[in-house]
Amino acid sequence: MPATNFLFDTRELKFVVKEWLDTQKLLSCDEYKDYYSVDDFDAFMDIAYKISRDVLAPSNADADLIGAQFKDGNVYLPESMKKAFHTVNDAGMGASAFDYREDGHIPRLFSCCQNEMLTAAAPGMVLLWITGGSAADVIETFGDEALKAKVIDNMFSGKWGGTMNLTEPGAGSDVGAATTKAYATDTPGLYKIRGTKCFISAGDSDLFENIIHLVLARTEGAREGTAGISLFAVPKNRFDDEGNITEWNDVTTVGIEHKMGQHGSATCTLSYGENNDCCGWLLGKAPGEDGKGHGLAQMFMMMNESRLTTGMMSLAVAAEAYYNAREYTKIRVQGTRFTDPKGQRVPIIEHEDVKRMLLRQKACTEAMRALLYKTYWYTDMALASKDPDVQKANDEMFQINNPLCKAYISEMVWGLCAEAIQCYGGYGFIEEYPVAQLARDSKIYSIWEGTTFIQSMDLVGRKFTMEKGKPLQKWMNEIAQFIKSHMDDINFAAEVKMLAESYHAFSDILKMLEDKMNEGKISYKPLWANRIMFAMSMVYCGMLILDQGILAQMKLDEVGPDSFDANFYKGKIASARFYVMNEVPNIFGIQRALETADFSAVALKPEHLG
Ligand SMILES: Cc1cc2nc3c(=O)[nH]c(=O)nc-3n(C[C@H](O)[C@H](O)[C@H](O)COP(=O)(O)OP(=O)(O)OC[C@H]3O[C@@H](n4cnc5c(N)ncnc54)[C@H](O)[C@@H]3O)c2cc1C
Repeated sequence: MPATNFLFDTRELKFVVKEWLDTQKLLSCDEYKDYYSVDDFDAFMDIAYKISRDVLAPSNADADLIGAQFKDGNVYLPESMKKAFHTVNDAGMGASAFDYREDGHIPRLFSCCQNEMLTAAAPGMVLLWITGGSAADVIETFGDEALKAKVIDNMFSGKWGGTMNLTEPGAGSDVGAATTKAYATDTPGLYKIRGTKCFISAGDSDLFENIIHLVLARTEGAREGTAGISLFAVPKNRFDDEGNITEWNDVTTVGIEHKMGQHGSATCTLSYGENNDCCGWLLGKAPGEDGKGHGLAQMFMMMNESRLTTGMMSLAVAAEAYYNAREYTKIRVQGTRFTDPKGQRVPIIEHEDVKRMLLRQKACTEAMRALLYKTYWYTDMALASKDPDVQKANDEMFQINNPLCKAYISEMVWGLCAEAIQCYGGYGFIEEYPVAQLARDSKIYSIWEGTTFIQSMDLVGRKFTMEKGKPLQKWMNEIAQFIKSHMDDINFAAEVKMLAESYHAFSDILKMLEDKMNEGKISYKPLWANRIMFAMSMVYCGMLILDQGILAQMKLDEVGPDSFDANFYKGKIASARFYVMNEVPNIFGIQRALETADFSAVALKPEHLG
């Protein structure tokens, strides 16, 4: 029987949003200034916390243990999950949180905080509204007015669901290998769709009256590869002009996957047009004479959002695993202190190595939260500002950070869950304790929405070279400037020095990559991409968490050691010191390994592996 023990530290969220980030600047933009103040954040957090604790967490066991069930071609969800979905929806935290049509919508930064809590309470449930909301957002941007009038309100209200369909049995990372076809009909913009998509999250369920699938398919005569792909909105059921369901649209749910985790999300294989009667609307323009489709670029809008969302989910699970491990170690008594072998037996939280493991979890989750929320801040600023230069500058920082948010956080969560299990000892391996489920639920995050390799190549490929490398240089300058400004900080001199050395090591790594490319040794790019992504994430997270530590020291000096907040600020300072002194130096290992230019993995022939 899986257990849920929802714990969440809203104090940390408030520090990030109300004390550290310049949320005031964001809320001063026209889009928000008449609607929200920084203090409204508390109300948003309180409602999300209560719903997470009282509604989502109690249904998490059903989501994990019963999960989505496939019977006679239909998918059924446990009643408790459906009830929880409707509560989230009615509270405005479901698909409607993705509705940016009018001023006054909630900033993404705030909805990320809410979703972090909801995910922590029930990781396998959040996709039910996240996929629907972001699919509606894509249709709102690229669909024609007639289609939007019929579907958008139903999707944002949560009455209808939505999905993204890229993957096929023969097309995973290689999206361009998709074989799903779209045949034009006599009605302009309407196509007949034929093909099979697999692994489709929230692909079917008895929760929604209808589901709009966003499907990548190739029109007749379009190019091979990603260039020829177009995007279609394909409903599970057809509907009339008022949005009333009329008949089934020949979309068959072939089955659902039996997964390691995320049991609450039906991961479906969907077959389109088995009876040659599946219709879908083209979003945007059809491929012209050059055979180029616009589908992948359009889908990227959803994927960019989903990559950040995956970072958010990974963070939520890592934090939840940490909070549970921390509480367990306070009550589990084993052994005496190393420094007092004849003394009393103590809770394991007193032991050096357990404290190290806990602080590592705390420091890493806080560093990752800093990365993620700063990136959401950039996204919001890019969209809310009316000044094109400000929009561009913020969008560039978002573009660079997005693969870090997706790849670094999703890779880290698996290891951090393992560390949480280690704190529990054998009990962590047992399903009666919550971290086992958290670990199972977390592994997919480094795979879906593009694996870590795909993200890392996006980083060292597109993101490094965009605008001739100027945004990357600006990104680097921010760290250099931070180091310069804090060189003389008496409280954090050793940490600033470590960050400075790490920054130089990372600059060296970038130079090594550039040299290899100039020498035409291009295989080094895929060989090094993953490790460069890690090094880059650590140097950036090091700066962000150190910035938080410096702020926390100032706040601690202000409030004094007897304040009720003193322990919180001391904990933040400890996180900053630990992350910079223990995680960031991993960059030196990467630098040293890349310096050797070892090529053995590429030189290897498959038969050498046995
Ligand atoms: C629970 C779950 C939910 C999902 N939800 C959705 C969804 O809603 N919609 C959707 O469209 N898809 C979905 N997916 C599919 C997911 O996006 C794919 O699994 C993912 O993109 C990887 O594709 P693949 O599984 O075919 O792995 P592959 O592409 O076969 O990759 C296997 C390994 O090879 C590596 N690799 C592949 N190509 C290269 C290369 N050229 N160079 C170096 N390394 C390479 C990969 O990085 C990976 O490590 C879901 C999957 C799961 C398991």
